[in-house]
Amino acid sequence: MNATSVDRRILEHFRKLSASSRLGHAYLFVGPREAGKTQTALGVAQLVNCESLSVKPCGVCSSCRKIASGNHPDVMVVQEEQGSIKIDQIRFLLGRLQLMAFEAKTKVFIIRNVETMTLEAANSLLKTLEEPASNTLIILTTAIVEVNLDTVRSRCHVVRFFPVSRGHLQETLGNTQEMAQFLTVYTDGCLGQARQLAENNFIFYKNQVLDGLLYKSNEDFLKKLSEKEDFKESLHIFLSIVRDAILLKTGVPTQDLMHTDRLKDVRLLAEHSFTELFAIYEQVVKTKGLLDENLNAKMAFSILRQRI
Ligand SMILES: [Zn+2]
Repeated sequence: MNATSVDRRILEHFRKLSASSRLGHAYLFVGPREAGKTQTALGVAQLVNCESLSVKPCGVCSSCRKIASGNHPDVMVVQEEQGSIKIDQIRFLLGRLQLMAFEAKTKVFIIRNVETMTLEAANSLLKTLEEPASNTLIILTTAIVEVNLDTVRSRCHVVRFFPVSRGHLQETLGNTQEMAQFLTVYTDGCLGQARQLAENNFIFYKNQVLDGLLYKSNEDFLKKLSEKEDFKESLHIFLSIVRDAILLKTGVPTQDLMHTDRLKDVRLLAEHSFTELFAIYEQVVKTKGLLDENLNAKMAFSILRQRI
């Protein structure tokens, strides 16, 4: 488990609930993808089972370590297989619920992305949510706020996860302010995704893409992008700087833009009229659409080159 993905605020909330014996039996974690919902749920599992007598979860006792490594017999994570969570998976989980705990104080069942449950699976879970087994905690997660599972939701305490703040992201990623700003806006504040991009040196990549699209002398880099997905990504990056230019023209302060490390280029782009910028934006969106219709990346690039 990646400890830095745990939402400390929410874990603290659970620590207080647990300490005062007010812990419910079923929770629905709602928040953007990669916001750390599963990691936090595992953190809660550690918290309620930790053997430490002081700060919980300690992360070092046998129970904490087993949960972190996915080897605790009483902590189970269920997620979609081939696109959905099926009734057999829920039946298996319910079977485990009936069993005595092997070693845990509280058995914890985590069901990820509940919106992928088949209707049958959801229905089979309802009774358990209503009449919980003792010493059992069920945590469901979903990225879809208005998930069409009202019956499930109404039986759970809803806990909301928010995109992480820029300051926290910067602290966690250990990046410069400009990088943290870019990663925050580009990923909608999803810490897991931002961290992944940071690890893959995405900032360097996005700047190569921008150099290629903004300066003809650097376009060799783009020509090497043979994979359609890479090219789509590069168009997405380009859209994001055009967006910055439009925002700058409408008076948005520079520190709120995405590419604060490339303000010179944003300002240059912003010298275009709104009409021109929107035309460029539309052209890029159209090119992305053409890629979906199977136009090859090289062709799409040359079309785009002619028009911008
Ligand atoms: Zn522990």
